[in-house]
Order: sequence, then structure tokens, then C-alpha cells
Amino acid sequence: MTIHDLPAKWRIYEQSLQKKGGAVFCLVKRSDGEKALYVQGESPFSRGEPFANGNLYWLTPQTAFDLAQVFSWLAPQCIPAERPSFGFGDRLGLATPGHIRAVRGTSAFPVFAQQSVRENSRTGRTFAEVLASAIFGTFQEGYNGGFGADADHLKRVEDALEAAEIGYTFFTCDPSEHVVRVEKMGDEELRQRFSALDWADEWRQEYLNRPFPIAKLGELRFTEDTLFRAALKYGAAIEFADRMYRGLTERLSQRFDYEVSVDETDFPTSPLEHLFVVRELHRREVEFVSLAPRFVGAMEKGVHWQGDLDQFERELHAHAAIARSLGSYRLSLHSGSDKFTLYPLLAEETNGLWHVKTAGTSYLVALEVIARNDPSFFREIMHLSLSAFASDKQSYQISADPARIPPLHSVSDDDLTQLVAKHDSRQVLHIGFGSVLSELGDKLNEILASHEQEHYACLARHLARHLQGLEVNNE
Ligand SMILES: [Zn+2]
Repeated sequence: MTIHDLPAKWRIYEQSLQKKGGAVFCLVKRSDGEKALYVQGESPFSRGEPFANGNLYWLTPQTAFDLAQVFSWLAPQCIPAERPSFGFGDRLGLATPGHIRAVRGTSAFPVFAQQSVRENSRTGRTFAEVLASAIFGTFQEGYNGGFGADADHLKRVEDALEAAEIGYTFFTCDPSEHVVRVEKMGDEELRQRFSALDWADEWRQEYLNRPFPIAKLGELRFTEDTLFRAALKYGAAIEFADRMYRGLTERLSQRFDYEVSVDETDFPTSPLEHLFVVRELHRREVEFVSLAPRFVGAMEKGVHWQGDLDQFERELHAHAAIARSLGSYRLSLHSGSDKFTLYPLLAEETNGLWHVKTAGTSYLVALEVIARNDPSFFREIMHLSLSAFASDKQSYQISADPARIPPLHSVSDDDLTQLVAKHDSRQVLHIGFGSVLSELGDKLNEILASHEQEHYACLARHLARHLQGLEVNNE
């Protein structure tokens, strides 16, 4: 396969070269950083600009979806049932090649286009653009191992249907707005509100005065108190998860992956509550591949997990035993970025059947590359993240205190990468992505484009650490 006669300012991504029919396909990059798809010979696509001995196509979502029609491995797929899966969120739309270099050769199945509606609105991207970046990144690396696409933290059925229309295969239902805070509710109010639920009588009959045997855990039993709390806390959330699932099954003729996630709620999901939620989803015939409980401890964004590790291990053991005993779904750990102490436990307790989601950690890797290559621009990013902190932090679980961050002028250029590493500044940078991308996004992309291989190498190294912690073998 050879490409001949490209103008001097264009170079080819060698890994992307593919032949099909009478045409050769590859990704090309112009000296100013602009990328395009080049098809030499007989192109299957109708549009395109005449270029060299073929046609050039700009990297629009339409080009991505056309390309995925030609090469089926570029279309998102469902997660193979027996493999662990890892979500690589990419807020910049530039990280997929680095993610591929981390996951290639491991047993983990990658989920690339993993972004929530909240992330998309903060980064000014659409579901289609996010998926297109993942497709082009996959094509650039010539990676034909398959990947999923996750419309993450869906809070509205319409959003799920929009993502379904575009080709997403993994739908994360987030019913957290329907989760009721029962933790501080008194007995009387609890009893009254439970009795008012449509299913109160059925639930009493179904759950009280009987054991629920769970292999490798023992017998679980509900008391009135634990049943009332579980039912009131998650009852409406289960209804919502059911509604979204019905919407998707009506819209999609093909199989899809469905996750129910309550990780972004205030109080942990107890093993009994987990049992209740899953049994109720099963009764409604909601088929889901993964469940994200709210785990104990501080699952903060972008930093190590904080809490009582023994307690985490005990609860994880119970959650994993319930998941194994009730059916074929995996436990999902969100905000997985840099939770290195939890990974070996998750891998072991779930017998390697887990799903982990990360996103912010890849953005932080990009900032590290910026700090090394353009210190003054990195200072601008830090400054902007700090000034946006008060409003950006609203919807996140974090503990950063900007007062503990040294004044920027006192940090030397060589030490700027330390700001990406240290807890307080790392979190401030982590949640500032929306403000930074909307004001400084173009320049940030430009710098990363001119240090493209370094960016990929750093991503591959950092995400490989995650995968090693999860004990997926790199063959
Ligand atoms: Zn989450």
C-alpha cells in the first residue's frame, strides 16, 4: 500500500493506512495541525475535495460515520460478556490514540466515547462530535479490536434516545434526581411515606420474613426499617431506570449495553439496597450489564480514594457477591481516575468482571504536557481554573482548598508540573475544564497538536498504570 504525490506540507499517519475495494484510505495531517481523511483511488463517498490522486474529507461527524460504514471495526460495539471493560473519557477529543496504546494487548475492552450531557455542555461538544473523535482516533491507530461508546450519566430519556440515534452502544442511566434522602428520616415519616408507595404491600410480602441466601456472603434479611429505607430511597429511581430502558428498547432494534448508576448521590448504597434495586430491575425485566453503586468513602475526582479501606473492602465483597449471585452484570466504579488503592480489590472481588470509568485524568495528562512545553500558557490555565473554581465546584465531590495552593508567581517553570500532581491544585485544574476549554480551548488544542506524540505517550503511560492496577494482563 503506497500513497504517492501528497503535497509537501501533508504527512500520513502510517498506522491508519487501509485498503478496501479500489481505494486506499489514510489519515493525513497538514503542517498547521489540521487533519483530514484522504482516499486515493475510487472513493465510496460522494462528497470530498479533489486532492492529489484522490479526495480529501474534513473530519466531520458525517465523515466518521461514512468511514465506519466502510470499516465495521470503527462502529461502536457491545462489551463482550466475559471481559472487563474500561471507560476512557476524553474531554478534548484528542486522546483516543493514547488510550489505544494503553489498552492494546490487554484483556480489557475499551469504551472510548464516554461523555455525559454535563461534560458535553461544558466542553461545547455534541454526542456526534464525541463519537467522531473516537472513530478517527481509532482509525489513526489502525486499532480493530473493537470499542464501545458510552452516553454517560443520562438524566433524561430524550438524551438517551438522541445518543441511540447516533450510534452509541452503552447507555448509563443516572436516576439520582429520583433518589430520596432517607438517611436522616425519622421512623414515623419513613413508615408513612413507605405506606403511601404503590407497591408497599407487594414489597412487604416479597421482602419481609424471608432470607436471601447469597453465595460467599451468607443470608441477607430485611427488617421493616431496612426495607422501608431501601424502597423509599430507590423506588422512584428504579421506575425511572425502567422508563429509560423501555424508551431505548423501543428505539433500537439491536442489542445495547445498559448501566444503572447511582454513584453521584450523597449516601452509600448498602448491600441490602443493592439487592433490592437489582431484584426490582429484574422483576421489571430491565436487562442491564452494569451497576454503579455509590461506594463508601470519598470518591473524589482525579485523586486517590480516601476513607477506611477495610470498610471499603468489606462492602465491595458484599456487593460483588450479590452481583454474582443475582445475575450477569458487572460492578461499575466511576470517578475511577487515579483510584490506585481500590483497583486490586475491585479486580479480585469481582473475579475480573468490572467496569471502570475515567475522564478527568486524561485532561490532567494533557495539562502536564502543556506545563512542560508552554509554562506561561499553563499559568493562564491555572489562573483561570482558580478564578472559576467557586462556580465550577458546585456539581462535584471534591475537597480542594485553593488557599493551600502556592501563589503562582512563586512557582518556577520547572515546578509547574507539581501543580498538576498535588491534591488541591490537581482538583482545581480537574474541575476547571469547562471554563478552560471555552476560553482557551483553541490554543490548548494547538499546543497538544504540536506535541502530539508526547501527548499520546504520556496518556499511554498514565492509563497503563490504571490497567496494571486492575490486573489486566498485557500480553
Ligand atoms: Zn459517575
